Amino acid sequence: MARRSDRRHRQDRAGAEVTPARLLDTHCHVAAYADPVAMLRAADEAGIAIVAVTEDPDEYRRLRTRLGRRDHVRVALGLHPLRAASFSPNDLARFFRLVPQTRWIGEVGLDYSRAGVSTAKAQQRVFDVVLTEAQPGRHPLTVHSRGAEKDVIGRLSDAGLPAILHWYTGPLGLVDDALQAGLYFSINIAMTRSRKFPGLIQAIPRDRVLLETDGPYAKNGGRPVHPDELESVALALARVWGTDLEDSTRVLVTNQERFLSSTR
Ligand SMILES: [Zn+2]
Repeated sequence: MARRSDRRHRQDRAGAEVTPARLLDTHCHVAAYADPVAMLRAADEAGIAIVAVTEDPDEYRRLRTRLGRRDHVRVALGLHPLRAASFSPNDLARFFRLVPQTRWIGEVGLDYSRAGVSTAKAQQRVFDVVLTEAQPGRHPLTVHSRGAEKDVIGRLSDAGLPAILHWYTGPLGLVDDALQAGLYFSINIAMTRSRKFPGLIQAIPRDRVLLETDGPYAKNGGRPVHPDELESVALALARVWGTDLEDSTRVLVTNQERFLSSTR
């Protein structure tokens, strides 16, 4: 299929109106954008839904208050692994109290990179608390695993929770374990530019792929990536899958629906 411009494609999609389903950005740090409200408006106009991840219960509460009710945004309750060492028992108690009122949980996980290795034990304590509190099947999780892929996949497998490995950079050898644990992988623009991208996408069955921005931390050409650019990830996936944008979008929307229906 000839490559069409984003705008043209959106018009086609709106015109067809067969499925009004939106592509879902499963991991976006909404509060970290310079102008979150403008960013969300642009995403809404582009037909993108967003999971707004947070790093601690206070950020979750602030963001919910600030954003109010918006149909295309879900605020996720998080405990970021790189903040684990500074979480007090009070922070964890606040997390417990808020779990029943959130749909999504994230960003949570483990990070054994240079930035996180010294707090590995504290991170494991926090992550284990999260996995115990997240009643099985109720909440989708978006999970950070940098340098800690084996421990994260093992824990998620034991917990049996519906979860997405966000920005996976671990060994290809662990992908099968993740698939067996029922996990999904969310792909962002930075990943599509990596040398490892085709190999990773070939290792993951199409029905386990979802989208994310990880904006504004992930960059597109040196500037923070925005959710309204998500279609370019669908296009990069289409190239590896040997198909077109329309087909890859259909696959991704089906995956979103299947993943979410497994969590009700
Ligand atoms: Zn993130």
